[in-house]
Amino acid sequence: MNESQHCINCGGPLDPKLPKCIYCGSPIFGKGTPKPWNYFLQSKKIRTRAIYPALILIGTILVIYIYLIAFDRFSETTLVQITPLWFFPIVFGGFGYTAEKMLGLIAVGQATSIADAYKKWIQSFIAVNPLIGFIVAIFLFPFTMFNTKNSILIAFLGSAVWGILLLIFFNGIFPSL
Ligand SMILES: [Zn+2]
Repeated sequence: MNESQHCINCGGPLDPKLPKCIYCGSPIFGKGTPKPWNYFLQSKKIRTRAIYPALILIGTILVIYIYLIAFDRFSETTLVQITPLWFFPIVFGGFGYTAEKMLGLIAVGQATSIADAYKKWIQSFIAVNPLIGFIVAIFLFPFTMFNTKNSILIAFLGSAVWGILLLIFFNGIFPSL
């Protein structure tokens, strides 16, 4: 993929006459426009191939370590307290990675918004694999409400929604179990 013809942020085709991508609004960094310090975050490739998969991998390794290897070493209280260590990397990476998939659908003209792309994608997922699709739909339900094309912001919002639900679970439901 040629960076001068495709948006680095969303992968959508670029109009060289315009200063911004028409799909995501990202500025086009070329010879004239200096790259900002956080340029690496604006690269879809770095987000989808490095940042989000690394976070999911870190969270998964922590789950395996905590629950399969070192489970007996932790008290129930400690297990609750360290939950955010694996929970948030997986949620952040999962939401970010899914957001990039949805941005890809918008960039090829299959959807008009993140929520629109998500509804189409999850419907076809559930049609092919009802059980896993249903579980994924529960995990990703906040996507039906998102109205931004910034995958990092979506990853933060998804983490915030699940963070609140986690707090409610550990403070309200878990003690009475
Ligand atoms: Zn774009």
